[in-house]
Amino acid sequence: MKEIVIGMNFPRRTAAENIDQALQHVVNSGFDCVELNLSDFPLIAGGEIQWEYVRYVKEKFNKYPLQYTAHIGGGLQLRNIHEYDLQKNVLRSSIDICSELNLNPLVLHFEQSSPQLQKEKAFLEAHIEAADYAAEFGIQLCIENIEVEDYTKVLDMIEKVNRENFRMTLDVGHLALSTTYFGCDFEVAIKECIPYVGHVHLNDNTLSFEEMRIENFMLYQTMDMGYRITFGRGDIHLPPFWGKVPMEWVLETLHEADYNGIYICEYENNLYVPFHKGIQENVRQVITGIRNRYNEGK
Ligand SMILES: [Zn+2]
Repeated sequence: MKEIVIGMNFPRRTAAENIDQALQHVVNSGFDCVELNLSDFPLIAGGEIQWEYVRYVKEKFNKYPLQYTAHIGGGLQLRNIHEYDLQKNVLRSSIDICSELNLNPLVLHFEQSSPQLQKEKAFLEAHIEAADYAAEFGIQLCIENIEVEDYTKVLDMIEKVNRENFRMTLDVGHLALSTTYFGCDFEVAIKECIPYVGHVHLNDNTLSFEEMRIENFMLYQTMDMGYRITFGRGDIHLPPFWGKVPMEWVLETLHEADYNGIYICEYENNLYVPFHKGIQENVRQVITGIRNRYNEGK
């Protein structure tokens, strides 16, 4: 059976000059992998790659015994038909950076679908083009379900793209929130997603959807995370097993379906530095326990 690969998102708010300390801390916490958000550093400017910066990050990343994955930078909007070429350039440059830094897969966001068919067509076509480009470098694109949208739209899109290297990033926390909001059964949803899953985000919350996320995104963004966590408002990115998402059941269901990809613990990690090791150990222990139970015939 494949080794268990558990990662965390790249330590938030790390200054470029402190990448070494950040990665050493990830290694010391026992994680096997790191997911870099491509807008954590100015690797792209105006759609074009800043090679000097990319080489700097590469030299740092190469020093540590970690696998690396990527998360698309904030703000990519492939439904933006007015700036379509710029948006596509950012995605293409992101794929080039993944190839240069050995980041694989690259996580993309589905966000919310548009009622305008022209925008949905542009969105789909840009992803088909990107998948074909990424395939040249052996990179997998994994599109993530966001809590603001019905997950079945993500599955439909993956069907339409119809490329081997275009899969789903199952964000467990987002799915728990969206099924609550859209009134679907979480367990049914997980089972429907599983055949499409290429990458997993273990992200926890208190199962309480924050309506402001849909109704007034500008205001939502101004809400302090400490406040949102205290009151359990929406997508609060708690570490796995710190909230109410039935994580063990999800991990067991993924195991039953022979999922053998990476598990990224995607939490507000700057708030949990003393707990990184315990979070990693806990997830590993649960997955190992499930595997052992199944090996012994449950
Ligand atoms: Zn996620």
